[in-house]
Amino acid sequence: MTYIDSEFHRTKARELMKDAELVFDADAVQKAVDKVAQELNQRFDADDSEAFPLVLGVMGGAVVFCGQLLTRLTFALEFDYMHVTRYGSKDQGGTIEWKVIPRSNVEGRTVIVLDDILDEGETLAHVKERLLQMGAKEVVIAVFADKDIGKAKPCCADYIGLTLPNKFVVGYGMDAYGYWRNLPAIWAVKTGG
Ligand code: 5GP
Ligand code: MG
Repeated sequence: MTYIDSEFHRTKARELMKDAELVFDADAVQKAVDKVAQELNQRFDADDSEAFPLVLGVMGGAVVFCGQLLTRLTFALEFDYMHVTRYGSKDQGGTIEWKVIPRSNVEGRTVIVLDDILDEGETLAHVKERLLQMGAKEVVIAVFADKDIGKAKPCCADYIGLTLPNKFVVGYGMDAYGYWRNLPAIWAVKTGG
């Protein structure tokens, strides 16, 4: 969701941190990124058939995860991004809007998609399908966090940093009212309005 900066949203953004609940501190966040990096390195350093993958970040939420994870990866990779957002009714999957489509060639390639959080899984299910339609050989999904929503998802991640409770969170790329993506830890906040 993209928010228009306004006094209303600034006030909301400031207010909600007053009773935010720390879910994972910055240390735990860094350990989770280390874990995903290790797992990806193990696979992509070893397997020649998956060499030279294209890594695609799903903006804007994946920006911090992408930046920090990339510096820990030891194999040759190309990086590009896409900008996808989902809005509307959660129950019906909402509407997926592609603001930027990746311009890199995906045909015949192993594509690693990086995102901040797998919630209902609608966004990444859509992204994966679209990349396969564009000719990707395979789509590997790595997310910083997977939300435990207590029901099946249309898309699962191959690599997961942290599992989060079913709460709305901010930090490490995730925003509320457009703010707080910059926080190095994960906080649960009460939004509304
Ligand atoms: P899904 O389609 O999996 O339900 O939605 C995934 C997208 O919704 C994520 O990439 C993220 O942008 C956003 N999202 C889902 N849960 C949260 C959350 O708890 N906090 C924030 N800030 N964004 C979330
Ligand atoms: Mg997102």
